[in-house]
Amino acid sequence: MHRRAMIRSTMAAAVAAGFPRRAFAEWRWAQDPGDLLAVRGDGGKVSLKGAALKELKASLRGRLLVAKDQGYEEARQVLNGSIDKHPALIVQPTGVADVRSAVAFARSNSLLVAVKCGGHSFSGQSTCDGGLMIDLSSFRGVRVDPTAKKVWVAGGTLLGAVDHEAMAHGLVTPLGTVSSTGVGGLTTGGGFGRVARRFGLALDNVVGADVVTADGAFHHADATENPDLLWGIRGGGGNFGVVTSFEFRLHPMQRQVIGGVLVFPMAKARDLLAFYADYSLTAPDDLYLDFFLSRPPQGDAVAGFGVCYSGPAALADRVLGPLRKLGTPLADEVKPTDYVALQRSTDDSDPRASGTYVKNGFTAEISPKLMEALLDGHQGDPGRSTEVLFQHSGGAIGRVPTGATAFAHRYSKHNLLIIIGWPAASDSAPHIRWARQYWATLEPFTRGVYVNHEGDAKDSGAFNAIYRENYRRLVAVKTKYDPTNLFRLNANITPKA
Ligand code: FAD
Repeated sequence: MHRRAMIRSTMAAAVAAGFPRRAFAEWRWAQDPGDLLAVRGDGGKVSLKGAALKELKASLRGRLLVAKDQGYEEARQVLNGSIDKHPALIVQPTGVADVRSAVAFARSNSLLVAVKCGGHSFSGQSTCDGGLMIDLSSFRGVRVDPTAKKVWVAGGTLLGAVDHEAMAHGLVTPLGTVSSTGVGGLTTGGGFGRVARRFGLALDNVVGADVVTADGAFHHADATENPDLLWGIRGGGGNFGVVTSFEFRLHPMQRQVIGGVLVFPMAKARDLLAFYADYSLTAPDDLYLDFFLSRPPQGDAVAGFGVCYSGPAALADRVLGPLRKLGTPLADEVKPTDYVALQRSTDDSDPRASGTYVKNGFTAEISPKLMEALLDGHQGDPGRSTEVLFQHSGGAIGRVPTGATAFAHRYSKHNLLIIIGWPAASDSAPHIRWARQYWATLEPFTRGVYVNHEGDAKDSGAFNAIYRENYRRLVAVKTKYDPTNLFRLNANITPKA
């Protein structure tokens, strides 16, 4: 028997006998993997040579996956079930060295690059067709220094791990409201959460970061070293490179807060929203109050509040009292609760099995005309869930000067979102069409867009205006650290030619 044929048949027998598929994949990489057609950042095609792929593979401690490899299917997916893309290659770094190898390989082949942390991007920015995905899910970790009140978080970590570790020391840094959200995307774009009105956005608490930039170089960034890079990653998203480590400030906070949801029949929505329009502006910083309207595909529509009060227990009745005077709720789950458990309590809003589409805008007030447009236009459909959410902003978020970080929406008191979901297998077009029409009636009452709640993938430059007065400085930072726009799958800033 020819030697190669014999090896093949031996391997086939080994596989049939239960030889682990992963070991088989390793063996296959050790042979000539053959050339692979991939997509470049400019949309052109490039043929990646088998020898170069083998070299990339040998440089990694983590995995290199191509279609049909075990783990590829899971790795390529993102949260939004209507996004179905197939990268040519997926690198799963286990540390900085692997990230550098992946970025250098992408750069030298001008590949389209996607960076995935938690995969929560509504518009699917963390995956791509035909390019290289850097999937950070094997690069997770949290280290707390309780004395210095700092936490170091690896670039692929999900926020629930940070809450869990920090709260074990009676400390917190403000992150989002769903524990499976990636720290990477959440923090580089903003980071609104249950204690942000007390302690600022997630990005306001970043005091240092390690970043692998487009040339494959490693940079530390803090107030004195590469301060422009630190400024850029605090609101400029993934434009400047892969953040491999975040250093956050921590704040002492009691473990027990008062939180949960308060749910009313939809018939009460007008009164509740009128109350919210006032109370959300005057509430103390230690009260976080979301307002929602929710129409499930079947069953009754409801309106209500998501609450987290983290202030002194002695003042709780005074702060939460006005909510208790709004009538008899269908459900009142607002009670003393563990902060980390509360952070996990809405994880089932995770639309993994469904298609999702979102539109958003910041509001500084909720005018009677906005209320009217919101309530009159909020229609249900048996094929989808239809939600409206005001996520509470203001407080400490608004006390940071606009130029201090790249995030430019300090005037916001709420982020208004409409969120629709439908079974991923069904046709998304009518639902998205409806959401866009509804949003067209609401958008005039908003000012600026939160990039992390953007539902549409847009071309480079489409977001320029939303960076407002920070845009020119962002272009300078982009041009310095990513002159060829390797990192373009984000709220993209075009570097200067
Ligand atoms: P991914 O899809 O993995 O990445 C999104 C973008 O971030 C990509 O462009 C990627 O390149 C970039 N990126 C990711 N990691 C890194 C890194 N390490 N270095 C550089 N760039 C990186 N937002 C809030 O502010 N508050 C909330 O309470 C909140 N709740 C949410 C709940 C759900 C169920 C969902 C789906 C989203 C929620 N969001 C919230 C929005 C969320 O902030 C964004 O979707 C964010 O992009 C998610 O980050 P990710 O790492 O999971 O995303």
